[in-house]
Amino acid sequence: MLGSLRFRTAVAYILLTVAAFVALALYLLDSLSDITRSILIAVIAAAAAFAILSLALGATIMRPLGRLATTARSIAGGNLGERVNPRPSGEVGELADAFNQMAQSLEEIVAAASQERNRLIAALNSSIDAVAAVDADGRITFANAAAERLFVRSRDELVGNPFVWVMPNEPVIEALRASREEGRRELVTVERPNRQYLQVITTPIVGGGEWAALVVFHDITEVKRVEQVRRDFVANVSHELRTPLASIKSVLETLQEGALEDKTVARDFLSRAEEEVDHLVQMVEEFLELSRIESGELPLARQPVEMTEVLAGAVERLRPQAERKGLSLALEVAPNLPSVRGDVDKLMRVVANLIHNAIKFTPVGGAIHLSANPGEGGVTVRVRDTGIGIAREELPRIFERFYKGDRARGSAGTGLGLAIVKHTVEAHGGSVSVESEPGRGSTFMFSIPAASLPLKSPR
Ligand code: ADP
Repeated sequence: MLGSLRFRTAVAYILLTVAAFVALALYLLDSLSDITRSILIAVIAAAAAFAILSLALGATIMRPLGRLATTARSIAGGNLGERVNPRPSGEVGELADAFNQMAQSLEEIVAAASQERNRLIAALNSSIDAVAAVDADGRITFANAAAERLFVRSRDELVGNPFVWVMPNEPVIEALRASREEGRRELVTVERPNRQYLQVITTPIVGGGEWAALVVFHDITEVKRVEQVRRDFVANVSHELRTPLASIKSVLETLQEGALEDKTVARDFLSRAEEEVDHLVQMVEEFLELSRIESGELPLARQPVEMTEVLAGAVERLRPQAERKGLSLALEVAPNLPSVRGDVDKLMRVVANLIHNAIKFTPVGGAIHLSANPGEGGVTVRVRDTGIGIAREELPRIFERFYKGDRARGSAGTGLGLAIVKHTVEAHGGSVSVESEPGRGSTFMFSIPAASLPLKSPR
């Protein structure tokens, strides 16, 4: 646009100059000598020729050059698809061809680079680890989708802000400094609120333009939790073994110190020691059973089983124990229950375990009610008691190995019973749950899939 304006102004100047010459010549023509007149005519002819040549040059060179300049400016402004069109003729046309070719290559290079960048960003965004890039001034220059989730901030809020703003943690800032300034790779473990653990790895970025260091946040909360469970487990096993062993040791010491001489006392002490040994044996057996179920080593029969028979068998076994404590024990089974697929002995132990707990945690005169109904694609069994109930905060933990409720601490029992129930039911492809109200009683429920259902692999 500007080029053509300049061109039109130049043409106007030339035409004006030629017109001025012609006017001056016409005015002076009669008063001049022959020689002077000839020179003047020659000058006018030259001026006219110059004007015509300029006009011709303007049309073939200046105007296309102006278009070229306009197109170049448009490309520089980001319109990479812009081309010199229509193609000018002659040499300027060749120049325009070369220019268009260059613009085409530029467009292709930019497209390839942006495709590469998009691919890199997509890869970083699909990472489950949060990733951020930090520049030499400590500002975030990139943050992936996981980083947005981790810091609960949008990318726009993260990029451009100081890294310390999202992670004000001394060891991490120090690690980042070491990576940025000394080119070292660093690894730091950080505990965040809500017991979340992060492994933060800072790596220097070499040759990446303005990026200086990459920070990767790897969530290791689950690893830490498993570590803690293992530690608790070892502590629990040691504790549970130590109590009966200490008791046996003290019995043996008392016997050694003379109680052996008194037959009645000795018999009493020996029976106490035997109780402790029985407790130890029960605990070791339960524990071995639990670890065999967990590791999938325990062979599980997968036969059609009538739950009615399982329930009746367990009730019959435990009725004397319930009666001794003055508890009523009732069984109610819905008609036409489907057969379930499973292991009769193991299912019997599950039910017996639940009834045993109900007896243990229900005060004298209470009631225990068992029912079986069709449900959840199989049979749902409920064991309801009118016992002491379970505190709300204890409910999520009662199926853990070795967990004993506050009020059960002094009672006999290993804390393994419900863990075995849970694992056995789950090995059958079923599920277990509990509802309870302290002081009013508890209801334990479990469901086992019907034998007619396709076999599900245990969770
Ligand atoms: P144990 O009975 O050996 O203590 P369990 O694993 O069978 O261990 O049970 C874990 C805990 O769950 C018990 O210590 C007790 O606090 C609670 N519990 C289980 N069954 C009942 C119940 N029917 N009523 C009240 N609390 C129960």
